[in-house]
Amino acid sequence: MKRHSLLLVALLLTLVGYVISAETKTDGKSRTIVFKGATVVDGTGKEPVKADLVVRDGKIESVAVSVAVPEGAEVVDATGKTIIPALISAHSHLGLIKGPKAASANVTEENVRRQLKQYARYGIGTVTSLGADGDFIYKLRDERNNDAGAGARVFTAGLGFGVAGGAPPAAAGLDQVHRPATAEEASAQVNELAKLRPDFVKIWIDDFNGSMPIKMSREVRRAIISEAHKQGLRVAAHVYYISDARELVSEGIDVLAHSIRDQPVDDELVTAMKEKGTFYIATLFLDEAFFAYADQPEWMKGDFFRNALEPGVADLLKPDVFKPKPGSREILQLASRNVKKLHDGGVKIGFGTDSGANPYRVQGFAEHRELQLMVAAGLTPSEAIRAATRTNAELLGVSDRTGTLEPGKQASFLILDDDPLEDIRNTEKIRAVWLDGKLQE
Ligand SMILES: [Zn+2]
Repeated sequence: MKRHSLLLVALLLTLVGYVISAETKTDGKSRTIVFKGATVVDGTGKEPVKADLVVRDGKIESVAVSVAVPEGAEVVDATGKTIIPALISAHSHLGLIKGPKAASANVTEENVRRQLKQYARYGIGTVTSLGADGDFIYKLRDERNNDAGAGARVFTAGLGFGVAGGAPPAAAGLDQVHRPATAEEASAQVNELAKLRPDFVKIWIDDFNGSMPIKMSREVRRAIISEAHKQGLRVAAHVYYISDARELVSEGIDVLAHSIRDQPVDDELVTAMKEKGTFYIATLFLDEAFFAYADQPEWMKGDFFRNALEPGVADLLKPDVFKPKPGSREILQLASRNVKKLHDGGVKIGFGTDSGANPYRVQGFAEHRELQLMVAAGLTPSEAIRAATRTNAELLGVSDRTGTLEPGKQASFLILDDDPLEDIRNTEKIRAVWLDGKLQE
């Protein structure tokens, strides 16, 4: 009996000890983890190094060769693996898709939470949702900043700005956006939006390749950009035509959020974007997704793609069901040449996919495919990764805290089985995703 009591006490003490240590480990204040022996691609574009990565309190403490493991630290053996910063998407959409359809009715807190987890599983540590968010997004964004277990971090443009009777098409689930009729109305609406503290203002300015009867007027467009800048907000524009891009750049747009796809980019635009510091996001996978499924490419057969699909979408991609959009192959080729020219000309190339705008733009998968398309366009793997990490952190205005694996930055990274600098497709070989020092499940 006595012995039993002692055993029970010992067991209880063990349990209490376990609970206490579990708590101190998860409160984020006393946890040190050393990732040993990986090749570290730090996102700066520098040569990779074989090093140990020390993480304390969710932040990177050091990246150094053969560090002594601090007392009480956990050790993760990453020998033979490659570590890269978590990817950042600067053009995606949260909540719109559910199953095989995009609709504003899908934009619920539950659906967005689910998608943030999916992005995190695929190594996308930050998602910028451009223009169709419900007001609950601000709460989710702020909550996520204190809970690394909630999936990807959120940047939001709240509800964006389109045209009455024009873009974006309401049928695509974008029926909730602002559609100001006059410059005064536009300024007032930006002013209201600013009170919610969005990270961006999104504008749809063109006629969606001739499918809409009108474009945004110059006056409305300028009023939005100018009021946003007055409020300290950056503006990202849907774009297609080079003529619009020229005007937007001269008006001080911060981000062109798609490729220019009607004409080759010329030196004049390259110079203007460089001078103004305009960021360019190519969203090449958007264009590829208009036709690629018709070819039934090898990547469609893999689990990495299939596991990312919304339920019911695989049926839409069957050869007898999916219809490619005429001309879309040529458009992708032009977009690919344009991003290469802008990159070579020294324009800041960011990274985004338009994932989540419709079920064909598959969240999580799209980002890895985009890296491959950027490399096919002529960027090196290192340059493509840098666009999705360091440059995008700069685009979002957070390069002081994320985007690279340097001391003081958020411990958000992917552990990969193979080196993506040798073959960019290796970003898909994800062994583990850590965001803010927390292993994602
Ligand atoms: Zn979009």
